[in-house]
Amino acid sequence: MRYYILFGPPGAGKGTQATAMVEKYNLRHISTGELLRKEIAAGSELGLKAKALIDAGALVPDEIVEGMIESEFNTVKDVEGFLLDGFPRTTAQATALDGMLAKKSEEVTAVVSIMIPDEMIKERIKHRASIEGRADDANDETIANRIRTYHDKTEPLVGYYKENGKYHEIDGTGTIDEVRSKIFGLMDKF
Ligand code: ADP
Repeated sequence: MRYYILFGPPGAGKGTQATAMVEKYNLRHISTGELLRKEIAAGSELGLKAKALIDAGALVPDEIVEGMIESEFNTVKDVEGFLLDGFPRTTAQATALDGMLAKKSEEVTAVVSIMIPDEMIKERIKHRASIEGRADDANDETIANRIRTYHDKTEPLVGYYKENGKYHEIDGTGTIDEVRSKIFGLMDKF
């Protein structure tokens, strides 16, 4: 099994590129953001707890998302691998992921990191707000907090994955097609 991590700041285009990646390489797309939004839409207890944190631009607790990931790993079978989108987002989550994979004698295949500057993050999120209507995309303060949360909690993972040689960065500032072909060029090597 292959275990790809799609990494990058909010608004980098992970969701857009994920669709093409899972199709081409027969992967299961696991987006923790989408799984959490489903819980919110269903009005579950977990969803209620997550909504307040997401609307504030904060992260939901590690154990919650780790549980979601592990249950996907254990239930999805007929694919060649997984594409993790929005996970891991903290060093603790990265360590937990390594532990889950080690139990299966597996490891992370590669981290595909889509990078864009902070100014572009804001523009892209605002644009998406007008199309998708996500509450956490519509509020300036929430967006600013998400960018801060990304730099504080998630960006340290770059160092974590550089150290173990899994980190590969793609310039995310081009068109959707340009970014997609760069990603395919990279993934064809694994
Ligand atoms: P974005 O496109 O802004 O990166 P996502 O759809 O991936 O957004 O996630 C939306 C929100 O869901 C995040 O801002 C965060 O509050 C929560 N979330 C998603 N994934 C995780 C995670 N791995 N750990 C903690 N919180 C998460």
